[in-house]
Formats: sequence, C-alpha cells, structure tokens
Amino acid sequence: ATPVSLVTGIGRGAQVGVLVKDAAALEALSQASTLVIDKTGTLTQGRPEVVAVTPVDGFRGKGDGSASDTAAQKRDKALLQLAASAEAFSEHPLARAIVHAAAERGLPLLPASDFLASPGAGVRATVAGRRVEIGRASASESAAYAQQAPAAQAAETAAASQTLVSVKIDGQFAGLIALADAIKPSTPAAIAALKQQGFKIVMATGDRQETAEAVAQKLGPIEVHAALSPADKQALVRSIQARGERVAFAGDGLNDAPALAAADVGIAMGTGTGVAIHSAGLILVKGDLAALARATTLSRATLRNIR
Ligand code: ADP
Ligand code: MG
Repeated sequence: ATPVSLVTGIGRGAQVGVLVKDAAALEALSQASTLVIDKTGTLTQGRPEVVAVTPVDGFRGKGDGSASDTAAQKRDKALLQLAASAEAFSEHPLARAIVHAAAERGLPLLPASDFLASPGAGVRATVAGRRVEIGRASASESAAYAQQAPAAQAAETAAASQTLVSVKIDGQFAGLIALADAIKPSTPAAIAALKQQGFKIVMATGDRQETAEAVAQKLGPIEVHAALSPADKQALVRSIQARGERVAFAGDGLNDAPALAAADVGIAMGTGTGVAIHSAGLILVKGDLAALARATTLSRATLRNIR
C-alpha cells in the first residue's frame, strides 16, 4: 500500500465525518461484504423515554407520590421509584430514561447499595432493604403486556416497538416498564445507501425479538438477531466470518465492544460510550450511519488508487 494515498484517505475521512483511528480499518471497510448493526443508539436515537409503568396485581408499594394520586397511580409510582433507585448507578440509556421519568414525577431516589450491572442484561441493587432486579422482559412477560397494554397505546404495533424491561423485587416479578426509542431520522436513507453499495445488512440487538422486528420493518428486508448478550453478538460476527465473509460491525455501547473487536472493521458511533470508541477502527463522529456510506465510497476509491 502507498502510505500517501492512505493518508489522503484518512484526511478525506475527517471531511465526511469519519475519524480513521487505524489505516487498516479503511482497507477492511473497502473489502467488507456484511454489515452487522446494533439497534439501540446506532439505528435508533438511543434516547428512550418511559411510556408506561405496569405493576402486576400482586405488587404492593407505597412510594412517594402526591396525596391526590389514585391507588393505581401510587402503585405505578412506587414501582418506578424502586426501579429508578436501582438504575441510578447505571450509565445505560434505559437506566437514564427510568431515572429521568422518576424525577419528572417528583419521586426522590431511595437509598441503594450492592449495585451490580451486567452489560446487555440489566442491573440489580438493594433499595431500601429490598432486592431489585431489572432486565430484559421474557417472551411470556412481553406477550402478557401486549394483551393488556394501556388503551392509549393499545395499537399492537406501538406496543411491539417498545423496549420492555422487567422489574423483580425480592425475587418476585413486580411489573414492566415500557420505553420508546425513535429511529434516527437519517437511518432509513443510510441503510438504503449501504444496501445499494452491496452490503448485506444484519441487525444484532440485546433487545427482545418483537422490538427488533418492529424497527427492522421500517428499514426494508434485513436479517434480525435479537435477545443477544455481548458474547452472542461477538459469536454472530465470528459465525459470519466462518462462512468466508468480511464483516463490518457498527455499534455504540459497552455491550458492543466484544463484537467491535472481533469484526474485520469495527465502527463506533462518536455519540457512544468510550469503550465502544476504544474498540473500533473507525468512528462516525456525529453517530450518523450516512457517514458510513460516505466512508465506504471513500475507502473503495482510496484502495483503488493504491492498487
Ligand atoms: P442493544 O443491543 O439494543 O444496544 P443492550 O445490549 O444494551 O441493547 O441491552 C439489551 C437489553 O438488556 C435491553 O433491551 C434491556 O432489556 C436489558 N438491559 C440492559 N441494561 C439494562 C439496564 N440498565 N436496565 C434495564 N434493562 C437493561
Ligand atoms: Mg447500542
């Protein structure tokens, strides 16, 4: 390779919104045939908002709601307050949304200890003497939610596109929190451009199947792999490589780091976590996949000049 062309390529990368950390990454991008993409924070904005809190009938909690609250509102707030108190220690976008929703409703955080986060799975903590566990809702919990979703968002498609997290208290299922995270406005056109460039597009997410499919549906036919742990995302990259494909992986989170490192080229969102940025060879400065299509054009032109 002629270093001069590569250096020019790296400089042009900055102009199209891509930081090239590693010159070999540009070459790997020019050769990649499959693009595996994380959902939350990469295809979507990664700024979820709490849209519903649904305690199970058996949940009893007092919470710090206002005196005018109905019994149902008190239970919703009590569940949200316990969840937010456990999530207060987490940097995860879902955690921040839950903490924000509690603050919006004027609910103070309760004293918490023994906090433990499992990337791509959830958090646990002891809150006011109760063991609180928060994580991905199971398939049966999701199905129950779809049936009894509040009337205001009963449209099944709306419920399907929401991320559901389950809250357990002292080992008992206590309820669900539903969060909505919009697709980035630039995503559909960027995916169309990347397909046009010949990439096979695969979504890899830790979120549940229904939510993954609801997002995929807005992007035309793409392959979907849901409910993946960080290790599963990495295994998916390796299994595609084992078929002889060169794999690019784009992601933003701590949970994407193993997959970013295993890919032939790792691409991090500049808006993402430091660990993801550290694990990648290319960084999309504005966290916008449109820049990846421009970087691909550039990488192919740069490498053509070198050969
Ligand atoms: P993605 O792959 O879509 O970027 P993650 O791997 O970060 O998502 O998370 C996967 C799933 O794990 C989430 O959809 C959620 O159900 C659960 N989860 C992860 N972290 C948390 C948390 N702090 N609070 C609640 N649930 C979480
Ligand atoms: Mg993500």
